[in-house]
Amino acid sequence: MKVQGMNIIDKYFRRINRLRISVTDLCNLRCVYCRPESGLDLARHKDILTYEEIVAVVRHAVKLGIKSFRLTGGEPLFRKNIENLLWMLGKVQGIEDLAMTTNGIYLKNYARVLKEIGLFRLNISLDSLDAAKFEEITRGGKLKDVLDGIEEVLRLGFKNTKINVVAMKGINDDEFEEFAKLTLERNLEVRFIEFMAMNKDRLDSEGKYIPMAEIIDIIGRRNELTSLPPPMLGSGAAKLYKINGARGVLGFVSAVSQPFCTSCNRLRLTSDGKLRSCLLSGGEVDLKAILRNDPAEEQLTDAFLRAANLKPSAHSGKGHVVMHEVGG
Ligand code: SAM
Repeated sequence: MKVQGMNIIDKYFRRINRLRISVTDLCNLRCVYCRPESGLDLARHKDILTYEEIVAVVRHAVKLGIKSFRLTGGEPLFRKNIENLLWMLGKVQGIEDLAMTTNGIYLKNYARVLKEIGLFRLNISLDSLDAAKFEEITRGGKLKDVLDGIEEVLRLGFKNTKINVVAMKGINDDEFEEFAKLTLERNLEVRFIEFMAMNKDRLDSEGKYIPMAEIIDIIGRRNELTSLPPPMLGSGAAKLYKINGARGVLGFVSAVSQPFCTSCNRLRLTSDGKLRSCLLSGGEVDLKAILRNDPAEEQLTDAFLRAANLKPSAHSGKGHVVMHEVGG
């Protein structure tokens, strides 16, 4: 594994060019599959990377050929003055893609400032279109807040907006078609994500998982689907389809049934400053310890190379994932 020109190539010949940044482990929702009702052991404020530290990491990453960044969490819009981080990132030369994954609760109010600052793309998580069910899944969230946020994002002309739907048997499988039909009139990608079993103290995951092929089959029963080639930008791991005649597209992310490890090109930065090699397995490098010790450029480069070196060829499919720290 080496830096080739300005690129990190790992030992399995994957070029690492994306960084997913969890800006906080806090969230304004308590989704049943993500967080326990009782709350979590969260990092203390002093252990969370400051905006200046995040920007320092991004600046260095750009020098190593990592040009695509996604802010996640926890809930990124829940971190105080998140717009300041975006302003600062907006000044970093060389960023080619700056995106955010959000639960959308605060989006209606934030959308305009995100657009003005120059955020390129938004992924909005939404697991039910039924207000009562949404409230149950999120333990208290209001569906209308998210729907209003989505409409505002579309009105402002954000491109490549995605709606992330975690597919869960017996919870939202009766809504797949309704979700898919959001694409008929809207320029959106509705993305179905295979449910990953997490910790035991979350939602009882037994039997909740639905493989991608089954999701496609459910939607395809009453809709004509055409398979599409992957797009140039933000293709990530999704297989794309379109309902014939629809404005938007459908994406299917098969992290469980068909892992996409061989083309995985990302590292993850946790809110407390660990550079993680993989969502599910592999190791991490304590970048915060380095950052807070007045590092030379070579030390930062070395940290990225070590993290890339820890990337497994493939994940085991299991693992003790703490989504709020690592960022989904
Ligand atoms: N708060 C933001 C949000 O809700 O989008 C960002 C953080 S959230 C952890 C990121 C993504 O991870 C969401 O789309 C969420 O649905 C997904 N996620 C969380 N737990 C998951 C699981 N067990 N299986 C699949 N996706 C999961």
